[in-house]
Amino acid sequence: MSYNVYKVREDFPILKQTVYGHPLVYLDNAATTQKPQHVIDTVNKCMSASNSSIHRGVHYLSEIITEEYENTRKKVQEFIHARHLHEIVFTSGTTSSVNGIAFSFGERYIGPGDEIIISAMEHHANIVPWQMMCQRKNAVLKVIPITDEGELVIEDIGKLITRKTRLLSITHISNVLGTINPVEKIIPIAHRHNVPVLIDAAQSVQHIPIDVEKMDCDFLVFSGHKMYGPTGIGVLYAKERWLEELPPFQGGGEMIDIVTFEKTTYNQPPLKFEAGTTNFIGAIGLGAAIDYISSLGLDGIGKHEHELLEYATGKISELGEIKIYGTSKKKSAVISFLIGNIHQLDAGMIMDKMGVAVRTGTHCAQPLMRRFGIEGNIRASFGLYNTREEIDVLCTAIQKVKEMFR
Ligand code: PLP
Repeated sequence: MSYNVYKVREDFPILKQTVYGHPLVYLDNAATTQKPQHVIDTVNKCMSASNSSIHRGVHYLSEIITEEYENTRKKVQEFIHARHLHEIVFTSGTTSSVNGIAFSFGERYIGPGDEIIISAMEHHANIVPWQMMCQRKNAVLKVIPITDEGELVIEDIGKLITRKTRLLSITHISNVLGTINPVEKIIPIAHRHNVPVLIDAAQSVQHIPIDVEKMDCDFLVFSGHKMYGPTGIGVLYAKERWLEELPPFQGGGEMIDIVTFEKTTYNQPPLKFEAGTTNFIGAIGLGAAIDYISSLGLDGIGKHEHELLEYATGKISELGEIKIYGTSKKKSAVISFLIGNIHQLDAGMIMDKMGVAVRTGTHCAQPLMRRFGIEGNIRASFGLYNTREEIDVLCTAIQKVKEMFR
């Protein structure tokens, strides 16, 4: 069945509204995505019919909600092709997953002079937690450079790795440049040196099929709200071995086995890493988002988004006086740009008045902005419900900005 974007749009109630009298053109999907009715209904149903504390009660509601929660873990496992169910940990999002690993990994394995490698295109969520850990442990943060096109300098990875390198943490897809990093090349390089790899999949899991077994990453993290699910829920995938070896990053209920005032022993993974009452309703909502994405099929979604990217890149470039940041050969549906020397904030505000929601600023990637010598830019990021007509509106809005500043 061919991909019918107009039918898909019917599933998203928020898209039907107008903004300042114009139909909403939502192009800020890399920040957060809108929710299909199926996710909204699932969350509503949980709250109105099955809400109860998971794992703890023997009563009817508790059993129902626990089953739904654990079914979602299974859906995530299948979605990213993890070998074991207990390799899936629910967190509050990508940021908390990276922070958790940075803390636990730091406690267990990092000493003075040890090194962590990230890249020049990381989101702050994949910079600051490592920096904090390096400060705590007197370790060193190293950075893989990027080219002017926005591609990682892969040849440099081998040179950056030394006997002191303990972990490599990189994004799968850049939230600014759209670059799809060749993780299938990078992970084997790191593994040849016995360096484990964390993949930040916040911008990839909603666009391309992920197979963690094939990819052979050690950790993979992502957020529910960027994949048409609720906010406040995310995933930390880790190979079984790591979840067994690493200490928990939070203490409290659920993550324990036996507690005395002298000593506590911990639960088995994944519960060892799910302290306290988790966002179980969010998790079940995430399960509904996975069902939704799977019903459309990531292949169809990917093809549709790629067509949008090509169409938008062509149309925007034709407008003239546009500088696009991120021209990698393998790109996801994100276009970051500046219009002449017009300030990105001014442009964004004018576009907003035409109903066009784009992101302006540094996109939580200040070092990357510095790399390109800019303060910030404008980002249009596409999702499974965007259309060519919306890109035409985006181009009209860009023209309007140019006219106003002429
Ligand atoms: N990593 C990347 C590549 C992102 O794009 C984002 C969010 O924009 C994050 C991490 C942080 O995600 P969250 O704010 O959902 O924790």
